[in-house]
Amino acid sequence: MSDLSKVALVTGGSRGIGRTIAETLAADGFEICLTYVSRPEAAEEVVKTIQGAGGKARAFQLDSGDRAAVATFFKEEIKGKVSLDVLVNNAGITRDGLMMRMKDDDWDKVISINLTGCFTFLKEASKIMGRQRSGRIINITSIVGQMGNAGQANYCSAKAGLIGLTKSAARELAGRGITVNAVAPGFIETDMTDELSEKVVEAMLAQIPLKSLGQSEDIAAAVSFLAGPGAGYITGQVLGVNGGMYM
Ligand code: NAP
Repeated sequence: MSDLSKVALVTGGSRGIGRTIAETLAADGFEICLTYVSRPEAAEEVVKTIQGAGGKARAFQLDSGDRAAVATFFKEEIKGKVSLDVLVNNAGITRDGLMMRMKDDDWDKVISINLTGCFTFLKEASKIMGRQRSGRIINITSIVGQMGNAGQANYCSAKAGLIGLTKSAARELAGRGITVNAVAPGFIETDMTDELSEKVVEAMLAQIPLKSLGQSEDIAAAVSFLAGPGAGYITGQVLGVNGGMYM
């Protein structure tokens, strides 16, 4: 497999945190495969930016919540074609609402994409990395998976579940040379947090010792470290990147 290109697969790599992770890992020397679901023009822009900087990237429209499509993607695009060195499970959505009024569909959709989707990617990637006897898997969870948050029972449950998945997978896959870690962002300025009202943002800022919202670069730097040569002895960890909001 040594003549195959070294690939980092970033789910939801077309916008926000995922975009910055894709661009950062490309600058680290990885060929990037990124997924998106609804905005091909945004994904193509990331591919062009990476190519413009001398890197390699491809974008795939692939719904993380569609198990069959994810399995087909690995069979057709990854297995035997590239050396899959890094998987970043980043794609995620919110469907916020108070628990008593939360629609079943909003619960199901968030669990399906934010938790089951990560499991599906992790399972497929671990088969390939297991054969290679090396690999890094990094799951993007959230501070609210550690703390809970009113109005986000579905999202917090998925993100807390992702921490459990990270630790279990780290134990199962260590013997095959695969590390599995999570990065838990605090409140980061992206389209996802743009939806929050000024009042909510102000309340958040009051709880952040470093007194500012985070940037997607802060998360990408943590991912780059966990994917890089200095992190080979780190597995099963949750790295909080949250300005001190949760310690
Ligand atoms: P974002 O700006 O909303 O971007 C989400 C990305 O995921 C987009 O590229 C989107 O693609 C993709 N995506 C959404 N649903 C998908 C699906 N079903 N299949 C494949 N791709 C899908 O989100 P973000 O703020 O960058 O968040 C990225 C990750 O960090 C998420 O897991 C989020 O939960 C986590 N996080 C964010 C914050 C924060 O403050 N922003 C805090 C903690 C954790 P399209 O554009 O094609 O829809």
